[in-house]
Amino acid sequence: MSAQSRDISRRRFVASAGLAATAVCLVPHRLFGDEQSLVVAARKAGETANITVQALRRNVSALIGSGGNIAVLPGGDGKLIIDAGFAGTRGKIDAALTKLSSDPIKHLVNTHWHFDHTDGNEWMHSAGATITAHENTRKHLSVSTRVEDWNFTFPASPAGAIPTDVFNADKTLRLNGATIALKYYGSAHTDGDISAYFSEADVLHTGDTWWNGHFPFIDYSTGGSLDGMIKAAEANLARVTEKTIVIPGHGPVGGKSEMIEYRDVLTTIRDRVAALKREGKSLNEIVAAKPTAAYDAKWAGGFVNGEFFTKLVYKGVG
Ligand SMILES: [Zn+2]
Repeated sequence: MSAQSRDISRRRFVASAGLAATAVCLVPHRLFGDEQSLVVAARKAGETANITVQALRRNVSALIGSGGNIAVLPGGDGKLIIDAGFAGTRGKIDAALTKLSSDPIKHLVNTHWHFDHTDGNEWMHSAGATITAHENTRKHLSVSTRVEDWNFTFPASPAGAIPTDVFNADKTLRLNGATIALKYYGSAHTDGDISAYFSEADVLHTGDTWWNGHFPFIDYSTGGSLDGMIKAAEANLARVTEKTIVIPGHGPVGGKSEMIEYRDVLTTIRDRVAALKREGKSLNEIVAAKPTAAYDAKWAGGFVNGEFFTKLVYKGVG
């Protein structure tokens, strides 16, 4: 091994350790090479992640660090949890939940079917949770499902992990003295995305329709689309005020100004890639033109790097 390649390996190690430490959890494709699916790498990184608990408003807290961000509302009706994180972090999630209150876990909502939001379904169900989700989320979890862009086929989930309380357009929960509005986006990041809005607290969990400071993944294999992602970003903006606290699917808790920035990043890169495609440039030429370059330093540090995002956008523009 040359000094140079040793240095590169070391830097790679430091980069992945750093990601785990900052609880980004989802690890760039390039760190692991193409032979290992990003799903395997992300689950592995998730196991070493730390869980941070952030108190928001009116008893609603966010748990950051195990795959998709989790929201929790404890109370006499039992804990309501939005998204279940990785199964490998069960011990850490359970410890964080117990610290919040001694109420049992009674209600789990999945914002969509992806593994980093539903791997914990089975243990939360066995702890007492009824699982609520959009009907397409149940559909994908019930059967073997392949995601081409992750090069991974998920087996059907075990019976206990499959949502039993499903809906199509919207549903309102009244629990622990709070009103929680669940709303379907239509095709966005997948074909089953929903938001959860804690009305009195004015706290919105967007699922993976918002990635705060990270390029988003778009799951074309299960009905996601670029136009749908941008439409969802606009819909999220239309329903929040300066005061709304917003929990993204990935990245830190934020609000309206960060959501505007995210929407602008998506539309700017879409317009650039669309213009290059209209000029007749090939995918390789467009990737080489680095249409995300101005944003990479801030936005490419998570699960989707600039090249991967360019490829996802290319698929979605006419
Ligand atoms: Zn997702």
